[in-house]
This record gives sequence, C-alpha cells and structure tokens, in this order.
Amino acid sequence: MAAIQFHQFPYMSDNYGVLLHDAETATTACIDCGDADAVIAALESTGWKLDHILITHHHADHTGGLDALKLATGATVIGPGNSASQLGGIDKTVTDGETFKIGNHQVNVLHTPGHTLDMLNYYLPEAGVVFTGDTLFAMGCGRLFEGDAETMFNSLAKLRQLPAETVIYCSHEYTETNGSFAEGVDPANVELKTRMKNVRSLRATDQPTIPTTLSEELATNPFLRANDGGIRQHLGMESASDLEVFTELRKRRDNH
Ligand SMILES: [Zn+2]
Repeated sequence: MAAIQFHQFPYMSDNYGVLLHDAETATTACIDCGDADAVIAALESTGWKLDHILITHHHADHTGGLDALKLATGATVIGPGNSASQLGGIDKTVTDGETFKIGNHQVNVLHTPGHTLDMLNYYLPEAGVVFTGDTLFAMGCGRLFEGDAETMFNSLAKLRQLPAETVIYCSHEYTETNGSFAEGVDPANVELKTRMKNVRSLRATDQPTIPTTLSEELATNPFLRANDGGIRQHLGMESASDLEVFTELRKRRDNH
C-alpha cells in the first residue's frame, strides 16, 4: 500500500489545516474547515480533489467554512455526533473506537474531550499519524472550555498510549508560547532547552513547528509530564497525584 500524503497549510492568525491524500484511490480528505478559501487554495496547489471533511470539534475556527466548502466541493462531512445539532452539515457521525477509511487507509476515531466535549481526534495507524485538534499541542494542551482538568487528563492519557514515534498534527501554532511556559515549570529539562532553541529559530523566520512527535512531547510537554520529579519539585507538589499536578499546570498556563 502506498503511503498516504499530507499537506499542511496555515489559515487565520495561527491555525493549521491539513490535506490527506491516498494516491492509489485518488481520495482526499481535509482536517477541519475554518476557512473554505484556504482549503480550496491548498487543493489547487496540490491538484487534489476533496472527498471528505473530518471535523475535530465545533469551534468556529474549525467549522466556519464548512457550508461553503461542502457547496464548492461536494465533499462528505465526518464528525462528532454530539455536536451535530449545533453544527449541521455533518453527513456521517462517528464516535470513540469507530474506524472508517480514507481510500485504502484506516482511520481510528478517538474521543478526547476537555477543550470541548465533542472533541474527536483521528489516528491513522499504518501511517503512524494522529490529528489532535485542540486537545494536544506542541508543548501544550487545549484550554478547558467545556470539560474539567480530569476530563482533559484522561483524554491526554489516551493519546500517550499511541506509539512514541507517532507524528502529531495539531490545529494551532502555539508552540513558542507553550514552550516558554514549559521552561518556567520544567527549568532543568535539557531536551526542552534544546527544542526551544530550534523552535525560536523556526518562528523567527515564520516557519511551522508542526508536526511534532509523541516522543518529543513526552520529553518536553509539561502536560504529559505530571509524574516528572523535576516539575513536581518546582511546584512543591512532590507527594501530589498526577491529576493534581496536571490541574495546577493547567491553572498556571491559563495565567501565563
Ligand atoms: Zn477549539
């Protein structure tokens, strides 16, 4: 089976969209649609024809262009069932544990609530790629708009069970801000310092820091490192539970 291809493109101030293309079956999908014109421009630049739109969650910067893109391309929309009433336009609702195919490639649906309650992530096991929406960011995680800290903690636990080499596409370029927060709570982390050097030089020339990998996140993302001795010592929470440490980190990040 030929490898599936990915094409990432920026839109709005700090969002990323991605096109997925299976050349064998000439099947193309996109992740979210905050801006129909941006997706259409990406389709024109690749020469691919859109078949499916995969929605992660109901926020407008992920769905605002849905009607226009559907009308322009005739693509079918796959997304969360529990936001269908607010969203409209979803042709096929999917839930946690379900699978479907893009061309010949299997997609596993992961429900990862916390940022919103409807949040879905899409994992392609053969390619080793996951689309984490606004759940897991490079060195960060989504703000808790609809879920609580425990909900997000459990969702991140689901993602950290994926193979360490999994490539992660998230929906926003928040890496530099996230990383500067991470440096504050995890000051002795050498891998984090090295990563931030690279991130700052990429951002200085407006280059993307996404995709990332789960192994990089396990080493540098404080929201996946609540069990880390250095972070716990820094917070004065040596004997707290991982969830308590995570909750404190999320609270501090909100005020960063
Ligand atoms: Zn969002």
